[in-house]
Amino acid sequence: MKTTLLELYRKTPEKFRSFLFDVDGTVLLANSPIPGAPEFLDILRKDNVPFFFLTNNCAQTHEEIAQRLTKAGIYAEADQIISSCDPIPAYFKEINKTGKALRYFLVGRAQNIPGVIEYEKDPEKIMECDGVLHNAGKYDWSVVITAILNFFLKYPEKPFIVTNPDMLNPVEAGVTICSNGQMELVIAHLKKRGIDKERIHFGKPFQAVYGVVKDHLAEVGVRPEETLAVGDWLNSDIRGANLSGIPSCLVLTGLSKVSDIANFDSTYTPTYIVSTLS
Ligand SMILES: [Mg+2]
Repeated sequence: MKTTLLELYRKTPEKFRSFLFDVDGTVLLANSPIPGAPEFLDILRKDNVPFFFLTNNCAQTHEEIAQRLTKAGIYAEADQIISSCDPIPAYFKEINKTGKALRYFLVGRAQNIPGVIEYEKDPEKIMECDGVLHNAGKYDWSVVITAILNFFLKYPEKPFIVTNPDMLNPVEAGVTICSNGQMELVIAHLKKRGIDKERIHFGKPFQAVYGVVKDHLAEVGVRPEETLAVGDWLNSDIRGANLSGIPSCLVLTGLSKVSDIANFDSTYTPTYIVSTLS
């Protein structure tokens, strides 16, 4: 029988000064807690070990994700949630050197940052924009996708940001299509017209979101190498942590199996493997 994360933690607690947990497949399955997860998080809370949740889900606010966890018996505060849309302010502050606010066509929700970024939601005004930001959410796809397609046919060099890189999200009934999966339709049509459009992603395994993670760790006085990133997916949780210098732990309660590791290079290899959290 494989070890649990609790056993690993009990053996060398000094090695793990904080934890970073993926949500779906790691602590929750749909809206139910994964057995062993709430108990382990209660122990961390009792031991005063700080922990955060890192999710690519940007369709919900931090408050909504914290409420979803808490309802399932995993007590969480909004300030423990880090999501793939969190790098937006730093990204736009970095790229905007003009002193004039950039104007982006927005799908979903995002905060305006005065002087840096303003959002346009009217598809009829998309041609006046500096780029497209797809952050998740429901929209009239026949209007919005057509507008985005025409925008990149006219301005193929302008930035196309889709914060969450996931194509599909597993749910009990099968899958749902994430924002990046929805945008495949635009990419396919552009390709047919000779435009190979690259998207910019912020979520796991892309490194922008790990900048936000490191800010949170610094706030609680913990270095990245003293943290353990726990997740169920090699391609996202494990690779992202490895590339950012955070030790990683694959938990076998979700998408990836031990036999999958051999299919990839060493950036996908977890530092630890556990069967469950406790
Ligand atoms: Mg997961």
